[in-house]
Amino acid sequence: MLTLTFLGVGSAFAKRNFNSNALFEFWKKPWKGAKPPTPPDDTLLVDFGMTGPLAIHELKQKPGFEHLRHETGMNNYTAIRKVFITHQHADHIGGLEEMALMNFFVFKDKKSGKPFKSELISTINILVNLWDHSLKGGLNTIQNRYCLLQDYFFIRTMIPGQPKKNNFNMGPYRFEIFPTDHVQIERKYDWPSYGLYIKHTQTGQTVFYSGDTRFDFPAYSSMLEEASLCFHDCNFFDDPVHAWIEDLKTLPEEIRRKMYLYHYGDGFDNPNLQPSIAQFKGLTQAHQRYALFDGK
Ligand SMILES: [Zn+2]
Ligand SMILES: [Zn+2]
Repeated sequence: MLTLTFLGVGSAFAKRNFNSNALFEFWKKPWKGAKPPTPPDDTLLVDFGMTGPLAIHELKQKPGFEHLRHETGMNNYTAIRKVFITHQHADHIGGLEEMALMNFFVFKDKKSGKPFKSELISTINILVNLWDHSLKGGLNTIQNRYCLLQDYFFIRTMIPGQPKKNNFNMGPYRFEIFPTDHVQIERKYDWPSYGLYIKHTQTGQTVFYSGDTRFDFPAYSSMLEEASLCFHDCNFFDDPVHAWIEDLKTLPEEIRRKMYLYHYGDGFDNPNLQPSIAQFKGLTQAHQRYALFDGK
């Protein structure tokens, strides 16, 4: 069983919602009801932005999310086994320094007794830039020594477009990366950013998770048509690097009816927007667990 809980659903500048970061949780045995009977067997956090630590702090108070609370009361980052990074904007990576330092200094791996490391997954391009341009400043020096990214995380690199190297698994679920048209330097796809297409390898069912992207139906049409559920980036104004709701409204109705919108701005409850929002499955809510693949 795979579930999805957003730590936040806000845009990069939103203040009423946390950053759009998504926690996938996997249980070998399916369960029903509001509260899982056990902690998940595996976890994947897709992005961890600057509001991520506060979002987990709030989420861990909620029944059913106790595994995110350490016995000391702190955020339990050892509950996060895998972290996938879609791209390098701060609303997607700004919490990683805290996670890395707390895993290094506070938490221990129960088996080895060494500092806990989660698996950090992305393309080599993003991981190299993530270290060189974002994380190195705060993480490359600790008391009396220098550190590298691999001192804090197990690193796993994806190669987009290569069938054996563009995906990773959690139980029977395959997470395949695809390039998104988010920010262009000179041309499409020349600044790396990715979305995820998740497949239940036993039933063939799929879920679409856009990551940050401009509206690009031609690129995503086959995935959007096939998926049983879609989560799509959305902005309420004509934005050069995100999908505008007016463009998303041009999607076929059968796609809109299975599409949740996320990464939205603080004006989400403006009455004038509600007729547009009503054309979709809805706005994704933070801290609510969505069962994917019909709970299978
Ligand atoms: Zn973003
Ligand atoms: Zn972005």
